[in-house]
Amino acid sequence: MKCARWLFLALIAAQGHFLAAQLFDIKPVTDDVYAAIAKPSFRTNCNAAIFILNHEVVVVDAESKPSAAREVIAQIKRLTDKPVKYLVITHLHGDHFQGAEAYVTAWPGVQIISTQSTRDGIESRGVTRMQRELVTVPLAIEKLNADLGKASDDTAKAPIQQQLREAQAYLTELKQMKVILPNVTFDRHLTIHSDNDTLEVLFVGKGHSDGDVFVYYPKRKVIATGDALTGWVPTMGDASIYDWIQQLKTVEELDFKYVIGGHGNVVLDKDAFDLWRKYFADLLAETANAAAQGASLEETKSRLIPTLLQRYGTQFPPDFSKTLIANVETAYRVITTQTK
Ligand SMILES: [Zn+2]
Repeated sequence: MKCARWLFLALIAAQGHFLAAQLFDIKPVTDDVYAAIAKPSFRTNCNAAIFILNHEVVVVDAESKPSAAREVIAQIKRLTDKPVKYLVITHLHGDHFQGAEAYVTAWPGVQIISTQSTRDGIESRGVTRMQRELVTVPLAIEKLNADLGKASDDTAKAPIQQQLREAQAYLTELKQMKVILPNVTFDRHLTIHSDNDTLEVLFVGKGHSDGDVFVYYPKRKVIATGDALTGWVPTMGDASIYDWIQQLKTVEELDFKYVIGGHGNVVLDKDAFDLWRKYFADLLAETANAAAQGASLEETKSRLIPTLLQRYGTQFPPDFSKTLIANVETAYRVITTQTK
């Protein structure tokens, strides 16, 4: 009986370890720089960029929930004894700031840095969206339960059951989540000094959001880009697309070799910057063209989506087709109302 209990506990511990290794892959990028690459989960987590300086650690972005941030923290503690002294939040989206509480618990003196507009954005839109999730996540759980009921066999049920577990755990966590606002804000440029090393925290204009931050480490030629440039696809819900083109052009002029984006794999060259800019310009031009001919949103979508899919489908990850629909909708709104 004792033996069975031991075996049971060992299994639980092994499962715990297995689960802990599930959310992120820690990838060495170059000397003293790591990327925690997020794996897919019910509530998307962002990647974290980890810069180990002479006496301290700087982390970029804080996941969608404290439990996920705690996993990154555990991995950081395996890499170094140095404390996380600075946490930079690149923008207002929940998958980048909602886990910040875990950093404050682990290192109570941690300084949390963002632009003023990101701080304002978290306080207004960020908090509202978390409240909204208290309604939308239970609806998603209902839908998953309905899907589970319709699933024909165990193979079909397994991924739904996994999503259900993650959704329920997220809802429980969401109800207790504390919003931690950045306590250091800046306008254009903030430098973190560590002996002779510097890490540059930059705002070069609007793009994916009003307050996008880039974290640049000249010594190792690394830049962390948040969602302004990722290993995924561009998402535009809060974007200023025209400004975004200029923003990427400005950043591209810096001297770097490694790009740690907010999602997807580490990007190893500047080609992605050209691709994103070209895609944005093309999307705006094609949408403007359609709108000028009086096309409705639906007509614009049916005209543009096949064209842009053909032009860019192989250059972006496979889920580009889904994002493209939303991108055309945003571009149409921008063109027809000129709000951004
Ligand atoms: Zn984002």
